[in-house]
Amino acid sequence: MLVIENIADLRRWNLKNKSTPRALVPTMGALHAGHLSLCDRAREAAGKSGHVVTTIFVNPTQFGPNEDLAAYPRTLDSDLASCQEQGVDLVFAPRAKEIYFPDTTILIHETRLSLGLCGHSRPGHFDGVCNVVAKLFNLIQPHWAVFGEKDYQQLAVIRRLVRDLNFPIEIIESPTVREKDGLAMSSRNTYLTPDQRAQAPIIHQSLREVRDAIVAKKITHPAEAETQVARKISQSKLAKIDYVKIVHPTTLEPLESFGENGFRIITAVFFGKTRLIDNLGIDT
Ligand code: AMP
Repeated sequence: MLVIENIADLRRWNLKNKSTPRALVPTMGALHAGHLSLCDRAREAAGKSGHVVTTIFVNPTQFGPNEDLAAYPRTLDSDLASCQEQGVDLVFAPRAKEIYFPDTTILIHETRLSLGLCGHSRPGHFDGVCNVVAKLFNLIQPHWAVFGEKDYQQLAVIRRLVRDLNFPIEIIESPTVREKDGLAMSSRNTYLTPDQRAQAPIIHQSLREVRDAIVAKKITHPAEAETQVARKISQSKLAKIDYVKIVHPTTLEPLESFGENGFRIITAVFFGKTRLIDNLGIDT
């Protein structure tokens, strides 16, 4: 496995390996089994003789001024060991000054999908994601890029980015990997106190119960479903709900009624200062 930290070396690698199929897994590091499952999906796409490229970059532009950029876990040595074990071919782990120019004047701005849900609590976050992902696409030039269903709004925004800017890249969606008790794996789970960690699985449990009730037609209206999820999560004394929304699975528009297009229940919940996100749904 090769590790590259600067763009000049990456360009040389690109030229040398131009004709080899290449799948990208962008991450911010602090890798867990969820990230590694994305690497497996990338390997399936690229094939045995193709290249799997993982990027590790804690992107400053997707953090708000009061968010956890400085505290975000950085575990490069163990991340590299995990990538090696997972059969990754190349890790690109640049510093921020390699990626950003202090006098940049051209930026991508998403105007619809990123306004609600997490975008409401994190203004500018998805523009930060779009800009860094576009840069990584141009730098790595993958044929495929794998993103987790766990960050559902991000996935929808990236699909739109690829469509609207015609990136010649196929986006692969990878299912959420969970702890045994249902909590979605996240680098931010390490922030949780033992008490918070013990109560956090209520998020997935509540989503699952309500999703199943919708499928069984025991809940027939989206507003009722949102209330039910919020009520169930609030049974945890430590949980503070940021939002619960039922949305259309691709447009992310609020759903007025359950119809043929499926639905997604998306939520963000604070445990102390730690904001956890999760989602569940049916896409038809
Ligand atoms: P991050 O390092 O948090 O930016 O995540 C990098 C990629 O891993 C994103 O595409 C995430 O959606 C994905 N990811 C994070 N957690 C999980 C999980 N528990 N299961 C599957 N994919 C995940």
